[in-house]
Order: sequence, then C-alpha cells, then structure tokens
Amino acid sequence: MEEEKAKFDSHKASLLVDELRTSFGSGKTRSYEWRITQMKNLLKMIDERESDIIEALQDDLSKPELESFIAEISISKASCKMVIKELKHWMKPEKAKTELTTAPSSAEIISEPFGVVLIISAWNYPFLLSLDPVIGAIAAGNAVVLKPSEISPATSSLLAKFLPEYLDTSAIRVVEGAVSETTALLEQRWDKILYTGNGKVGRIVMAAAVKHLTPVVLELGGKSPVVVDSNINLNVAAKRIIAGKWASNNGQACIAADYIITTKSFAPKVVDALKSTLEDFFGKDPLESKDLSRIVNSNHFTRLTKLMDEDKVSDKIVHGGQRDEKLLYIAPTILLDVPQDSLIMTEEIFGPLLPIVTVEKLEESFDLINSKSKPLSAYLFTKDKKLEKKFVESVSAGGLVINDTCLHFATPSLPFGGVGASGMGSYHGKFSFECFSHKKPVLYRSFGGEASARYPPYTPKKKRLLRALLNGDIIGLILALIGWPRT
Ligand code: NAD
Repeated sequence: MEEEKAKFDSHKASLLVDELRTSFGSGKTRSYEWRITQMKNLLKMIDERESDIIEALQDDLSKPELESFIAEISISKASCKMVIKELKHWMKPEKAKTELTTAPSSAEIISEPFGVVLIISAWNYPFLLSLDPVIGAIAAGNAVVLKPSEISPATSSLLAKFLPEYLDTSAIRVVEGAVSETTALLEQRWDKILYTGNGKVGRIVMAAAVKHLTPVVLELGGKSPVVVDSNINLNVAAKRIIAGKWASNNGQACIAADYIITTKSFAPKVVDALKSTLEDFFGKDPLESKDLSRIVNSNHFTRLTKLMDEDKVSDKIVHGGQRDEKLLYIAPTILLDVPQDSLIMTEEIFGPLLPIVTVEKLEESFDLINSKSKPLSAYLFTKDKKLEKKFVESVSAGGLVINDTCLHFATPSLPFGGVGASGMGSYHGKFSFECFSHKKPVLYRSFGGEASARYPPYTPKKKRLLRALLNGDIIGLILALIGWPRT
C-alpha cells in the first residue's frame, strides 16, 4: 500500500487493474465462502480497530465519539451483518416465468458480479462512505479498488493500513491520493464505478466512464428542503431537525437540512424553537461544545463564511454566526428570509448554516422545491394527511422522510440515492448487492418441442398459426391447427 501511495500514475493504475482482473478471472471472488470470509474479517476489523476509527474521525473532523459510533461504525457493522445473514438467499438464482411461445422452457435470473469495480468516496463520512459500497461490491463477488478522500487523510490512511491486514489483497485494494491519483484510476477500464461527492467531479467521473461504457453510480448532493407546517409538535420537530443538521457532522452531511420552508406567520415560532433546543443541545457558547464537529478544512470554512457574509444575507442572521477561523468552528446559524438569488439559496450549503424561507401558504413550497434541481432528500413536518399525500406525490427527490430527517439513510430496506442533479443509482442493504450485480437472464430449452412454424418458408398456414399464437387467440390457434375453414 505504501508503494502505491508513493507514486501512483496511470501505469501503476493499469498494473493494479490487471492484477485484480486476474484475481477476478480466477473465479475466487465469486464463491460464497470467499465473500463471507471477507465480510467476517471486515466485521472483525471494525470491532478490533474501533478506537483507531474514532481517533481518525476525531483528527479529520473532530467528530464526536457517539456520532462516529452511530453514523459510521454501527451502520458499517450492520451492513456486514446483513450480508452475512442474507447473502446465501441473495445469491440464489431467481426463477422466472416463461411464455407459451418458448414452451417447453424454463428461465432464471442470475446475479453476476460485474468484475473489477472502482469506489471513490468523500470526506464527510469518510469511513462509512468508503466501506458501505465496498461491502456491497464484495457481497456481489467483485474485485474492488477503493479511493478514499484526501480531504480526510487520517481515515484514508487508516483504511489503507487496516483493510489489507484483514482482507484479501489479491482482490481488494486501497489507493490513497487526490486528483492525479483519481485521474490515473479513471483512465482505466472498470466494470462499474461508484462515486460519492459533488456534482462537478461527478461529471468528470461520468465523462471518464463513457470511454469504456462503464456504468456509474453517482451519489451526489443538493439542497434538501424541510417543509414545516404549523399544526405540528414543534418541540419534537426542532429536535429532529437539529439532529439531522448540526448533530450530523455540523451540517456537513449530504442529506442534512439545507433550508426550511414555512409560513410567514409560523416562522418566528420555528426560529424560537430551534434557538432554545440548540442551547439545550450545545450550550450557550456552541463554539465550546464537544458535541459539534468542526469544519473539515480552511477552504470549506472560507466557502461557508462567504455564504453567510454575502451583502444581502449577512443582516438576515437571527441566531449564531460566531466562528473561530483558527479552530475551524462555525456555530449553528439560522437566517430568516434570505433572497432566493443569494449564494446561500443557490448553492448546496453543506455546513452549519440554515436559512428559513417563508411563504404565504405552505402548498407554494412544493412548487418552490420542484423549481430547483432535484434534491437528495426532502422532509415534511405535518399532521395534515392531505398535505402529506400531496408532498409524497408531487415532490421529486432522492428520498423523502415525513416528520423526521435523515433516518431513511439508516433504513437498509430502502434504496439510498439521488435523482436528477442529486445523482443516479442507489445502494444500501440488498440494493448494494444489486448495485454491483448484473442481472443475467438465462432461458433454458431442450431439443424437444420443435415448432416448424417459426422457420421459413413462411406459408399462409404458418402465418395464421403464429398470428393466433402471438395474439393469444386460443380459438384461432385451434382452428389454424386443424386447418378450418378450409381454403
Ligand atoms: P471530496 O472533496 O472528498 O471529493 C470526493 C472524491 O472525488 C474524492 O475521493 C476526491 O479525491 C475525488 N476528486 C476530487 N476532485 C477530483 C477530480 N478533479 N477528478 C477526479 N476525482 C476527484 O468530497 P466533496 O465533493 O467535497 O463531497 C461533498 C459533496 O458530496 C456534497 O455535494 C455532498 O452532498 C456530496 N455527498 C453525497 C453523498 C451521498 O451519499 N449522496 C454522501 C456524501 C457527500
């Protein structure tokens, strides 16, 4: 791994892919036993290295220990455990129905690994977003290269150090690095690429994949709205919004609430509820709180302060705004009625700032959401079942949650992914296995059941027979077979 890290160019990338292709070609990664062994070893790694993982996440993001445990470690472990429990069942070929036109025959759908796959991950949940797709790729029987994010170097080097200690390095490798290493990797032919990160690089990944017609999954971001009705339990809603925003990596989460939409008359109550709950959670001086992650680096710190310091925005701050440039902390910050054409309302925030947009009637919010690029998630807090139904039917987003935020991510029976500008493809739970499997259909026939009507020369009788058969016209078929009426 160290060598790969030292000088990783296109030539090295090509040798690496060749090596993994040979391993995949040997068939070893396809066996149930190999996949399960990797999964058990991965689980062992997470258990044995838990304190190292927590420390790396502390180094990269000052991520609170409990957040690391809940959102990175335990979800990764749950994914491994699910594979161990379900893989035999997932790998079973699925019987498929056949038609009279192919009788006698039988059919099945086989889940076949794609081959050698590339996973490029992001910095904000650097452990989970690296391992979770790797788990899916291994479960599906692929050889894998993981490229963790250079923006979270401690977790990247932890993965590069420990994965080879626990997993089969002839088929599973980690390449550390930034743009040049990723570019070298993207020049190779892969059988599938899963990329997590921003849409600009997503386009670079997709353009590189075009060369070899490689299928891609793009796990991108967007502006995830939270619509807040006035008929709700505001106390509970405030806690749940804060949990999915500031208690999730201080807003540096792809599915964190990006902005709130509520009515003009209810907005002051929303602001008050958020303020007092924020104080309960993070104290009077949130910059002193041990329960808030810091901003990942000074580039992102500058990007975020630019969003809140824009002329037409800075006087809209109704709570927070404090920052510590040296320690890279920004306090939970709420803004009210910022203009729609401000940077904060046109770019994904991906940090601790939360603007509140007000409307006269809540229904208007659905059009507002749909007028923007499709978000990764959208949330609604309401007790109004009609409004809920309209939201579910009319708002297009990667995923929706009613009366909470973010929890769909931790529901492995739901596919997780974006739509439109927020991405394409999905994974999690069984969907991760499917994401890295080609559904290969197989139709089985024997040498019996010859139907001469399908072969030339095409006589009028054959034409009559085939038309009746393909139209499902049983009487016509019988008549054609007995040749009645005689012509
Ligand atoms: P990042 O900076 O870590 O970049 C992601 C990956 O892209 C890294 O591995 C990096 O090395 C690589 N990369 C960067 N520039 C590249 C280039 N020019 N060519 C090739 N590779 C390159 O992460 P980021 O993009 O800052 O992540 C934040 C974004 O990701 C946000 O938009 C967020 O919403 C989104 N995100 C989405 C999900 C999801 O599951 N949908 C999860 C986390 C983050």
